[in-house]
Amino acid sequence: MRVLMIAPPGAGKGTQGALIAAHFGIAHIATGELLRDHVARRTSLGLAVREYLDRGELVPDHVVLDMVREALVAAKAAGGGYVLDGIPRNMEQARAAYRIGRELGMTADVAMHLEADDAEVTRRLLARAALEHRSDDTAEVIGQRLTLYHQVTAPIIDWYRERGILVSVDAMRPKQQVGREILAALEAMRPRLDDETGQARHPVDLATLGEAFGAAEPHPASG
Ligand code: ADP
Repeated sequence: MRVLMIAPPGAGKGTQGALIAAHFGIAHIATGELLRDHVARRTSLGLAVREYLDRGELVPDHVVLDMVREALVAAKAAGGGYVLDGIPRNMEQARAAYRIGRELGMTADVAMHLEADDAEVTRRLLARAALEHRSDDTAEVIGQRLTLYHQVTAPIIDWYRERGILVSVDAMRPKQQVGREILAALEAMRPRLDDETGQARHPVDLATLGEAFGAAEPHPASG
C-alpha cells in the first residue's frame, strides 16, 4: 500500500498517517517531523530550515525531495509500502514525487485528501499549541500556513483526481471516526491494488458515501 496524504495543517495528516502506517505495517514518512527532528538536533540541515518552519513557509523543494528520496529508498528495502505525510505541498513537489516514484518502481496508489475547513483546523491547532508548544502553532503562523495551503497545495488535488487515485474524506469529524473510514476505504481498495495491472483507476469521493462508513453513528465523546 502506497499512500500520499494531502490535507491542510490541523486536519489530522499526522494522526491518520500513523494509523495507516501501523495498520498496513508500512513506513510513515512525515516531512514536518523529519525537519523538526533536524532542528531539534541542530544539524546543518536543521539550522538551514529552522526559519522557514518558524515562519510557516515551505522549505526549498530540493531539501525535502532529497530527504524523501532517501526515506523512499529505505521504505523500498523494507517492503515497498509507505505513507507520505507532508509532501507533496506544491505542483513541483507533486511532479518530482511522481518522478522519484517511477524511478524506484513505487508510485502512489492513493492520494488521501482530508477535508476540513479553516475555522475547524485553526481551533484544533490552537488547542494543540497549549499542549505541544510547536513554534508554528501561533495564530499568525497558522494563518500563513493556511494561506499557503490554499494557494499552492490545494491546486494539486485536481491532478490526483485526474490520475484517478484521489480519495476524499470528511475530516471534520472525530479522529476515531475519520480513521475508521480511511481504513475501511483502503481495505476495500486493497484487492484491486494488489492485482493492479495499470488499467485506469477511478476517483472515490467518500464525502458522499458517509453512510456506508458509519457516518450516521453518534460521535464518540472525544475527538
Ligand atoms: P502542518 O501540515 O501542520 O503545517 P507539517 O509537520 O507537515 O505540519 O509541516 C510543518 C512545516 O514543515 C511546514 O510549515 C514547512 O515549513 C515544513 N515542511 C514540511 N513538509 C514540507 C514540504 N514538503 N515542503 C516544504 N516545506 C515543508
